[in-house]
Amino acid sequence: MEKIIFATGNQGKMQEIREILSGLGVEILSMAEAGIEMDIVEDGTTFEENALIKASAIAGCMKGKDAVVLADDSGLEVDYLGKEPGIYSARYLGEDTSYEVKNQNIINRLQGVPKEQRTARFVCAIAAAFPDGGTCVVRETIEGYIGWEPAGENGFGYDPIFYVDEYNCSTAQLPMEVKNQLSHRGKALRAIKEMLAGR
Ligand code: IMP
Repeated sequence: MEKIIFATGNQGKMQEIREILSGLGVEILSMAEAGIEMDIVEDGTTFEENALIKASAIAGCMKGKDAVVLADDSGLEVDYLGKEPGIYSARYLGEDTSYEVKNQNIINRLQGVPKEQRTARFVCAIAAAFPDGGTCVVRETIEGYIGWEPAGENGFGYDPIFYVDEYNCSTAQLPMEVKNQLSHRGKALRAIKEMLAGR
């Protein structure tokens, strides 16, 4: 394996990916850096399926190149809401709706619900597609609960309403290094790193 191409255009994610996957001794490129432009329809029904759809679609354009394609899919599952927003986390209430509105909406839907029923998790699936056509996928989570009000300025998306018992605060109140250590994405990246190192 000469290169890893990670199917994301998100620079924040690329930084975390580079930090965690460095040490493999392999060049790590974003899609843009690899010169790949592609609109992929994520029509899977699980995080794992969507990650595999993305990784396989991009690997399809990389035939003959010694590159492993990685792709992730992540989101928030709220148990009381039947695991919503789930794979629709980015599209919940509309792609262009602010997270202030999305977060307040989730809090409102949990009005009067006691802490033990507010359980939630961030999920991250990362799929790998290899030059020989093989694929694999890992899934990791961070468990927590939906708080009663948004708090914190760090992170993004649903971080201000996702609280972790261990720190008794939202993941938007944690320093980035601490969140990366605990997070679904950090854990999934370390799992895929281990898998790639063993190949
Ligand atoms: P994607 O994997 O980049 O498509 O992310 C899907 C969506 O899940 C994001 O737009 C966020 O709404 C949510 N999400 C995923 N990971 C996190 C996180 O670490 N914090 C907050 N929201 C997240």
